[in-house]
Amino acid sequence: MDAGETLGLVGESGCGKSTLGRTVVGLEEATGGSVTFRGEEVTDASDARMRELRRDIQIIFQDPASSLNPRMSTKQIIAEPMRFLTDWSREERDARVHELIDEVGLGEEHLSRAPHEFSGGQQQRIAIARALAVKPQLVVADEPTSALDVSVQANILNLLDDLQDEYDLTYLFISHDLSVIRHVCDRVMVMYLGRLGEVAPTDRLFDDPKHPYTKALLSSVPRADAGVNTNRIVLEGSVPSPENPPAGCRFHTRCQDYIGDMCEEEDPEFRRIEGPEHVCACHHYD
Ligand code: SF4
Repeated sequence: MDAGETLGLVGESGCGKSTLGRTVVGLEEATGGSVTFRGEEVTDASDARMRELRRDIQIIFQDPASSLNPRMSTKQIIAEPMRFLTDWSREERDARVHELIDEVGLGEEHLSRAPHEFSGGQQQRIAIARALAVKPQLVVADEPTSALDVSVQANILNLLDDLQDEYDLTYLFISHDLSVIRHVCDRVMVMYLGRLGEVAPTDRLFDDPKHPYTKALLSSVPRADAGVNTNRIVLEGSVPSPENPPAGCRFHTRCQDYIGDMCEEEDPEFRRIEGPEHVCACHHYD
């Protein structure tokens, strides 16, 4: 990821997006591959080093209601990461809480209230304040608006955008919602069954997708200028189990552009499509 960018991660439910996000912040162990942060391999970091890294890498969860401790006040919730991850004094922590509650669009009168006293949108604002409390560099936003009313989703996205500018944040933005991904991301990674199939700048991916799975995903997006979407690609077959993915290309059991035995036998490697920023793993581009 590039510092300051919003990198999207998109794919169907159950494809492994959230697992990847939780692995990046150290909430799940990597079962393969590795995680590097600013050039440092962190997959096997010691507990002490992971504690330091948690200051730099924070997460916002999909469902704010279940991510906020119902027995804590808003002030305690926002202050908690500072208590565990910094050596800031109580006065410094209090000052930061007051700064944050204002930055996320709530007021000091909200600090003594419990999570259940807030709407979903307000709860997500509190969760965002908690994530930013220790001034991280990278924030994993795991479906941060999916559990919210449509009417408040745009407000939360705008808040995340404003805070990115203010704190020079890098976001890993996980979503199944392609319209949200297109709106907020600089680049997008497309995942199928725990494996990336295509990575590209957002405009290029939406204008000229290369991977057959990306094409199918994007073809399902309703277009304002079309009555019936006659170009929609309907994927045949059920989604295989991520625990037991197909050999070769993981998409071969449903691919509309299947080209033969090599799809079943060889896992395709990433190839550059146009420039270094657009890469795709499909035998069509070998
Ligand atoms: Fe389809 Fe074969 Fe490409 Fe996989 S490698 S996406 S099965 S054409």
